[in-house]
Amino acid sequence: MKSIQAKLLLSYLLVLLVGVVVLLAAVQLSAPTAYSRHMMADMPGMGPGHGMGPGGSGLANFRAGLLEALGYAIGAALLAALAVSILFSQRIVSPLEKMAAATKRIAEGHYDERVHIQGQDELAQLAHRFNQMAEQLENTEAMRRRLIGDVSHELRTPLTAIQGYTEGMIDGVLPADTETLQQIHHETRRLTRLVDDLQELSQVESGAFSLELHPQSLAALVQTTAKRLAPAYEKKGVSLQFNLPANLPLVLADEDRVIQILTNLLNNALAYTPSGGKVTVTATPSGHEVQIAVQDTGIGIPAESIARIFDRFYRVDKSRSRSAGGGSGIGLTIARALVEAHGGRIWAQSAGEGQGSTFTFTLRSIHA
Ligand code: ADP
Repeated sequence: MKSIQAKLLLSYLLVLLVGVVVLLAAVQLSAPTAYSRHMMADMPGMGPGHGMGPGGSGLANFRAGLLEALGYAIGAALLAALAVSILFSQRIVSPLEKMAAATKRIAEGHYDERVHIQGQDELAQLAHRFNQMAEQLENTEAMRRRLIGDVSHELRTPLTAIQGYTEGMIDGVLPADTETLQQIHHETRRLTRLVDDLQELSQVESGAFSLELHPQSLAALVQTTAKRLAPAYEKKGVSLQFNLPANLPLVLADEDRVIQILTNLLNNALAYTPSGGKVTVTATPSGHEVQIAVQDTGIGIPAESIARIFDRFYRVDKSRSRSAGGGSGIGLTIARALVEAHGGRIWAQSAGEGQGSTFTFTLRSIHA
């Protein structure tokens, strides 16, 4: 049975039916005895007439007998109805009790708690939703723990370096010269960048930001970003090229956020492409969206890492990332969250190490 309403209706009917059946059966059983007992009590001689004498005592006896029989029958019917009601209500109450107990366990921090309720009615659906909620809470809790572990780990590296440099200077092992101070400065900048990234990540992951979606010219957004990054590209000797068709449709996007996505991808492309390399930004209309690809001729990504590089704090190779001037492995996580907030997708491709990489994301386009 699919709905509680139908179940309740059926149980009321059954209770009523059981009551009526028991009532009738009890009347049938008790009426003759009760009736004859009253008749006999009234006429000890048991003469002919059997209480039908003048004065109407026969009718009174009949009434008394009937009332007695009905009294027994009603009592029996009530008991039967009560037993059936308890049975039915138990079936509805017991899943609720199970859920109440599970809620209490979850509130106490046991996020692996689940309820098992059979059937398809509203209570079973509620249990299913409850389990989904519990799973979500369990995932969030696991994520929170992992995040604390990751952040502590990320903070430890620059802090250990700063501590090492300062202790070296205090002990006189390291000279307090510009070079040492620059190393310390470099590590503090890493820390600042990490804190900024974390703040950004917490904002985009919690959805605590609003997108101002307007029709935008993608070419203009790419040019703005490229202009900002051009000095860094020039300095490293990596060329930046564009492949933006003139008939590109406008996209529905938040200007600042798309610039941020492009900045993250172009910064990565620069960081992981040796000097003399090339980075190309290509936009291609495809159905109701535009695909934007950032392709580089850099160090590439091994196949086993492709699926994980959008994970928070994931770096293909920590030392490689650090020496390449990469960050803490949050940039792509932020980019993915921003692309998905726009209703788009983002993915990476690479033929392997040393073969370059291509990062592609989509944005919804506006058709005139
Ligand atoms: P990071 O700040 O370390 O660059 P990201 O989240 O931006 O963090 O990137 C995650 C990892 O993905 C990087 O550490 C790097 O190993 C890999 N990666 C990202 N972009 C590229 C690229 N264009 N070429 C090769 N590897 C890349």
